[in-house]
Order: sequence, then structure tokens, then C-alpha cells
Amino acid sequence: MEGNWKAYIFALVLGVAVPWMVCALGGGSLTPAPTCEQIHITVSEEKQTPTIAVLMQEKTQQMPLTEYLTGVILGELPADFAFEAKKAQAVVARTYALRIASGDRHAGAVCTDSGCCQSYRDPAVADDKAVQEARKAVLETEAMVLTYGGKLIDATYFSCSGGVTEDAVAVWGTEIPYLQSVASPGEEHAAHYSDTVSFTFAAFESALQRDLPEDRSQWLGTVNYTDSGSVASMIIGGVSYKGTQLRKLLGLRSTVFEMCMEEDAVVVRTKGFGHRVGMSQYGADAMARTGSDFAQILSHYYQDVQLETDWYELTNP
Ligand SMILES: [Zn+2]
Repeated sequence: MEGNWKAYIFALVLGVAVPWMVCALGGGSLTPAPTCEQIHITVSEEKQTPTIAVLMQEKTQQMPLTEYLTGVILGELPADFAFEAKKAQAVVARTYALRIASGDRHAGAVCTDSGCCQSYRDPAVADDKAVQEARKAVLETEAMVLTYGGKLIDATYFSCSGGVTEDAVAVWGTEIPYLQSVASPGEEHAAHYSDTVSFTFAAFESALQRDLPEDRSQWLGTVNYTDSGSVASMIIGGVSYKGTQLRKLLGLRSTVFEMCMEEDAVVVRTKGFGHRVGMSQYGADAMARTGSDFAQILSHYYQDVQLETDWYELTNP
């Protein structure tokens, strides 16, 4: 009888006190950490269904985050993309939106311009199956975000890299540890994996906003490349241009390009579409089609980041 009583106390210590100690130590705090059960019940319904201010046609409207993210997936990805790629996009879009909304770009809102924030397509006018799948991708990754050093990352993404992504520093001049160049194979099915664009000589000068030497053999000079193969700089008509500058002036799809002179035109062949920093959407689709899940896709394109599974709880303890 006495032995049973001791065994009961021992079990109680093991079952209650030890998990409490592990929880308290794991939380890195001197105050007792709540048990998982307590954490669960402190999260209100309201916190689990947050809203976001969306700037649309010059008006700001408050929208459930779930609905907004569903519209972003519909606007950003082709409907036939693999489901795990859609889930990766949901996490990235949520991280990106929450970071923008906490800044001053649009006074706490996000806009629907893909060139500024993120594209958005109203689920009410989209194909039913595509809407269901986009919403499922959002719900299956509910409250998941990417962080680095405890803060939301700058979750940049783009359409297609042309085979390899770019370092943030090569495009924006700032070194960002989690935005480094990585291989991105399998993107050949992208609509703009490679493109060719021709400029008449007059159009080329007009785009560069200057007159070039009369001797056209002097137009195209030395090219320097980044480690990931995009044009870092190029001399044209004796003047050095950054690759990013040429992309903008000539309206190129990416900074991975080759330029050559033909009899009556300057021809530019590009690979990839977008700034090529962060997650490649077509690369994510290719990874998903060869068996990667959304977490593997995210850790490939964003290095050493943390996939937080309940951001709202962390920010609303
Ligand atoms: Zn914007």
C-alpha cells in the first residue's frame, strides 16, 4: 500500500513537475512558462482570424487576411501550379504582407500592384476550383510565417530565375543573409524562361536617352557578370551601366542577358523574369512537382530562416 502511494507521487512528479520544468527552461524565462494547454486556450478567435488593410483602387478596405492571401495566390500563380508551391506562396505572401503592413510604405496597408506589393485577384471572379485550392493552401499554412533573428523576413519572390537566383546585394546593394543565390532547376516550363527582344538603332539610343558613337562597332563593350551570371555592369558607347540600370532603361525581363549587334538592330536575349531575389515561383512549382513539400521549398530559397507555425500567438501573447 505504502509502495503504491510512493509510486503515485513519483508518477505525479514525472507527469506534472518535469514537463513544467522542461517548458520553463525551454522558454528561456525565469517566470513559469504556461503549459501547452494554457497557451492554446489564451488564443482568441479574433487573433486567429486577423484582418489586413488593403489599398485597392485608391481606397483602403479592411479584409480578412485569409481572403486577401487567397486573392494573392490567385493573382500571383497560374491555377495549374502544384499545391505545395501554392502553400509556399501562401507563407511567403503572408510574411511579405505582414512586414509591409507594419511599415510605412502605405501607412499600414498593402496595395494590389504586383510591381509594388503583391498582385491580387478577387476570388469572386476566379475559377471555383482555383479558389478552393488557393484557400486550402492558405488555411493549411494558417499563421505560418518566415522569420530571421526573430523578425519577419523580407520575403521577396519573383516569377522565374532562368536557372539560378540572385544575391540581394547584387540587386539592391544590401547584403541580406537569407537572400543568397541558389540553383533553381526545372523552370524551363515558365512562360518567360528565355526571351529575345530587338531594338532598332534609333530605339536603342532613345531607350538609353543619349546619342551613341557614329561607329556602331564601338557601341557594345565589356560586360562584367555577378557570380550568379547576371550582368553586373556593361559598357555601352564608352559609358558604364549597371545591369539593373539597363534592365530598367531597356525594359528587360531580367538582368541575365546577352546583347549583340545585327545588321539593323541590337538584339537582347534574356533568361528569367523578375529581380531573381528570393523564391522563384516557377522554381517552387518545379520542386513541388519533384516531391518537395512547402517547407523544403521555403528553406531552399530563404537560407537559415525559421518557419514559425503560430506567428499571431507569438505577437499576441
Ligand atoms: Zn504597394
